[in-house]
Amino acid sequence: MYIKAVVLDNFKSFGRKTKIPFYEDFTVVTGPNGSGKSNIIDAVLFALGLARTRGIRAEKLTDLIYNPGHEDGERSGGPREATVEVVLDNDDETLTRSQVVNAAGSEEIGDVDEIRIRRRVKETEDNYYSYYYLNDRSVNLSDIQNLLAQAGVTPEGYNVVMQGDVTEIINMTPHARRGIIDEIAGVAEFDAKKEDAFEE
Ligand code: ATP
Ligand code: MG
Repeated sequence: MYIKAVVLDNFKSFGRKTKIPFYEDFTVVTGPNGSGKSNIIDAVLFALGLARTRGIRAEKLTDLIYNPGHEDGERSGGPREATVEVVLDNDDETLTRSQVVNAAGSEEIGDVDEIRIRRRVKETEDNYYSYYYLNDRSVNLSDIQNLLAQAGVTPEGYNVVMQGDVTEIINMTPHARRGIIDEIAGVAEFDAKKEDAFEE
């Protein structure tokens, strides 16, 4: 399974709906400083609900909505809504149909050779709302997270390596570094479950 495309609509500096294709093996995004390269990574973290522990670069969720006056600290009138869709190529059936059906809570999800995870944030006058969709079916964050965990993608994992992560790993104590290896090897999950069981 791999990310086939990311579609950004009104997200951060992407004021127009923009589809960014990704290749299976290796894709490089280049461009001048401030052109929005890192915003694409933020979009992936945002849409896949991975932003809890990996730092998305925004103070509040609504800062992710495109704002033409961003640089001047001004707020735009217009529609206060941003959407990102991550299109996963699941041709290799990393996720089975029944796993996707289970997460979507519906059989009506179309073909699962392509899995589309979409998140929308909407700001109203006094509040904001966040919505998740799986192949166009409305779902909860936990549905997305449980599904992705079955493909080895978790908020604690290193599926996304952020700037500074490598330095941090190098500067860690051996014990903390061992923790990361346990995490990657999938051992940490069982350690946590064991601890929970002891506590009970
Ligand atoms: P660098 O090469 O320096 O890492 P980059 O290509 O990664 O640059 P990003 O950090 O992705 O650049 O993009 C930064 C730009 O995004 C800035 O110009 C900033 O003003 C703009 N930006 C961030 N949030 C918003 C927003 N909500 N609305 C409009 N523009 C935004
Ligand atoms: Mg950057």
